[in-house]
Amino acid sequence: MSVVVEATELVVVANRLPVSRGTGGASRRPHGWETSPGGLVGALAPVLSARAGAWVGWPGFLGPVPEPFDHEGMRLHPVALSRSEYELFYEGFSNATLWPLYHDAIRPPEFHQEWWDAYVVVNERYAERAARVAAPNALVWVHDYQLQLVPAMLRSLRPDLRIGFFLHIPYPPPELFMQLPWRHEILDGLLGADVVGFQHPVAAQNFARLAQRVVGVSGSTRTLHHEGRNIDVRAFPISIDVEEVNRIAESPSTAAQASTVRRQLGSPRVMLLGVDRLDYTKGIDLRLLAFQHLLRDRRLDPRECVMVQIAVPSREEVPSYVEQRELIERLVGEINGEFSQMGHPVVHYLHRSLPFDEVVALYQAADVMLVTPLRDGMNLVAKEFVASRVDNGGVLVLSEFAGAARELSSALLVNPHDSEGLETAIESAVSLDPAIARRAMRSMRRKVQRHDVHTWAAEFLAALMPST
Ligand code: UDP
Repeated sequence: MSVVVEATELVVVANRLPVSRGTGGASRRPHGWETSPGGLVGALAPVLSARAGAWVGWPGFLGPVPEPFDHEGMRLHPVALSRSEYELFYEGFSNATLWPLYHDAIRPPEFHQEWWDAYVVVNERYAERAARVAAPNALVWVHDYQLQLVPAMLRSLRPDLRIGFFLHIPYPPPELFMQLPWRHEILDGLLGADVVGFQHPVAAQNFARLAQRVVGVSGSTRTLHHEGRNIDVRAFPISIDVEEVNRIAESPSTAAQASTVRRQLGSPRVMLLGVDRLDYTKGIDLRLLAFQHLLRDRRLDPRECVMVQIAVPSREEVPSYVEQRELIERLVGEINGEFSQMGHPVVHYLHRSLPFDEVVALYQAADVMLVTPLRDGMNLVAKEFVASRVDNGGVLVLSEFAGAARELSSALLVNPHDSEGLETAIESAVSLDPAIARRAMRSMRRKVQRHDVHTWAAEFLAALMPST
């Protein structure tokens, strides 16, 4: 699907710019800008560069920022954050209030006026910058939970714009959202957009119901009416760059690397894999506990099974992340202490980020992929695993609370809160009939291939475009 944006400019507003400042190797001197990895950047960069588009965002370091600059056909507008704004707006309100609240409050969200005040100030800064950058009647696409006030702020500065908002994380049910002392302000902020997009239809429904109940807007759950405008509210499930994953997955060096990994692990009969940011929403602790119980109950044999867990460091200053890391590392230590043989740990735990091609090699090496979040907007790892299995091999154990479960319904779906259910699912995955496993994988691969991140971006932009 291709979209013609005509002469109007396109502006993306996101917490982070799509680049980070590289370091000059060992010298650690700044060394130009490097495009950040990831599907979102990969999907939006070509759309922006094709239409002289701009991106407004934080460059990833504190203090003074450079003037706007061009990078791979995009005009990048850095927004500055001070240390205290980073702590109050980003670590505080974004990641210790909104993040847990929007993920089913699996950690108690904290409500502090000071954090909220910083959230308002920083959102204003992004909105003002976007207002200055956008051409008359431009399309502006605002991203994610850190910037929910931007749509209304931007509309009041620039009523000529078409404004879209996409939330990458879940949107909570009214019962939870109502806890937020600033619920009215957040809803007002989002209602400034013309299109409000979510990962899942239930999230869209939650938002529409809240807007009706708290703000009193009228209309159906699909189209709200507010201050004389129509607001399109719906799900646009994000996806991955299937072509890029295919390219890596089909390369002989990836297959060779996958075999090397199996050898390095001691050629186990079964390799289980988890790949996550180290986040308490991902259920890494629950899957380790399930693995531990299965070994203790002799339902899995430690001489035959190896688990690899990649845990990418994340939000390391936020206390619940520190606790989650301690818990995970204690469990890894316990399991290895109890079940490893000399020179053969039963859990291989890497607390670092790997280059994407190495992640794809791990996906190919694995027999069972464990994706067990307690709540997740989408979970791209699940889709990447499926896309990587050009051999139709591997079994996906997937939490029913990941957005991806809606499309990947042929996975072994689990409720990660149900420890016995999770153990049974892992045990069944290990011994699943290969013919059944391949059928499920083929069906999931078809789904992922039909809808990639480029169609996702094109569909959102098509909805945002003024109807003629
Ligand atoms: N990832 C990576 N290197 C790693 C681990 C993960 O590049 O060592 C990537 C992974 O391929 C995926 C992303 O990080 O694209 C994680 O996205 P997901 O939606 O699963 O979770 P999020 O971190 O956005 O909550």
